[in-house]
Amino acid sequence: DDTGIRNRQTARESSARTYARHFPIVPVRAEGMTVHGADGRSYLDCLSGAGTLALGHNHPVVVDALRRTIDAGRPLHTLDLATPEKDAFTTELFATLPAGFARNAKVQFCGPAGTDAVEAALKLTQIATDRGGVAAFTGAYHGMTLAALTASGGTTGKRAPALDVTRLPYPYAYRCPLGLGGDLGAHASASYVERLLDDPNSGVPIPAAMLLEVVQGEGGVIPAPDDWLRRMRAVTQSHRVPLIVDEVQTGVGRTGTMWAHERSGIVPDVLVASKAIGGGQPLAVVVFRGDLDVWAPGAHAGTFRGNTLAMAAGAATLRFVRENDLPRHAERIGARLREGLESLDHPAIGDVRGQGLMLGVELVEADAEPDHLGARPAASALAGRVRTECLRRGLLVELGGRHDAVLRLLPPLVITEEQADSVLERLAEALSAGA
Ligand code: PMP
Repeated sequence: DDTGIRNRQTARESSARTYARHFPIVPVRAEGMTVHGADGRSYLDCLSGAGTLALGHNHPVVVDALRRTIDAGRPLHTLDLATPEKDAFTTELFATLPAGFARNAKVQFCGPAGTDAVEAALKLTQIATDRGGVAAFTGAYHGMTLAALTASGGTTGKRAPALDVTRLPYPYAYRCPLGLGGDLGAHASASYVERLLDDPNSGVPIPAAMLLEVVQGEGGVIPAPDDWLRRMRAVTQSHRVPLIVDEVQTGVGRTGTMWAHERSGIVPDVLVASKAIGGGQPLAVVVFRGDLDVWAPGAHAGTFRGNTLAMAAGAATLRFVRENDLPRHAERIGARLREGLESLDHPAIGDVRGQGLMLGVELVEADAEPDHLGARPAASALAGRVRTECLRRGLLVELGGRHDAVLRLLPPLVITEEQADSVLERLAEALSAGA
């Protein structure tokens, strides 16, 4: 039974396991936004495999693509050979890219996870610029392999630095790393970065790349202002520093545009993508300006770069997202969800933010004194209780942020208005019960 399964896994698995700690469920069936547990209960999934399942669980076009691939007897493991599935996937992937970027872009298939593609992007830019190091931001999350983890900000699991990181302040209005807040904080962050890079005597070497998330996800759902992104683009361009945009979580329509960076009009030099591009199967790529393609043949190898099922599921997903304009749907339902969250008017809600269907609710100690910017201390324990209360009400939500006090909503892009309203209803009840 499900208790036996959970107990055995708890006994056998390392203490490093994460989600299983907070969600004591044994999923056995799922469709769309609904997951059914072995205990007969069902859940509305606002986690979507950490933002992976753009079309929800077992969407018919994805299931059909997987079935057809298997029924055709395709080789399911192909290293990095050319296959019909890879051909279709690459065509779909390039069709999602803004024209200015797609024109001379190259793609490199990477190991199966987002972190592998981040590694590839760091390696590529070091080779192409003949420089070391990377400029990366407070609160960033880029993955669990050593360089990606080192580039991440404020992670506790980090051990030896494998990379020389210049840590720069990310524009986070509610808890501004520069203590300024709002537009002023974003302006100061951009000025600081510009001066560090522009001044040859700043003591900060020009890095091989700047790596950023357009909306920080694990860091607490923090969108960067468009103007700040444009200033990052301008300053990196003027120093010939490749700009790597990590869209592992924001990509494929989640934020209301196919790629989150499109909203600001910037064109990155390197785009890192994973999660949703594989339609639920493991797949990760870097897409980059053709003239950066100077690494040697075999410079980035890996056994699992030719997952035929992932290519098929990914191509079907990208096509469906594009043909049904799901970015617009994400924008519309996201606005409805966000309005609902803003109207909850609970004293423990410190901030509501996000873009499209990537939303965050920062919980705070309602009775504590606000700091000089009006932010109250993060309420991590309360957030944990609210997550549990959500689970009791059949709603899966995960936490994130610097203090694990941000409720993160990442529903599938196919979420309906009714489901969005149901999420809001359950969340409101959970907040009342947890507080
Ligand atoms: N970059 C970002 C922005 C992410 O959100 C994540 C995963 N949450 C990663 C990289 C790492 O991806 P993976 O877990 O597939 O290695």
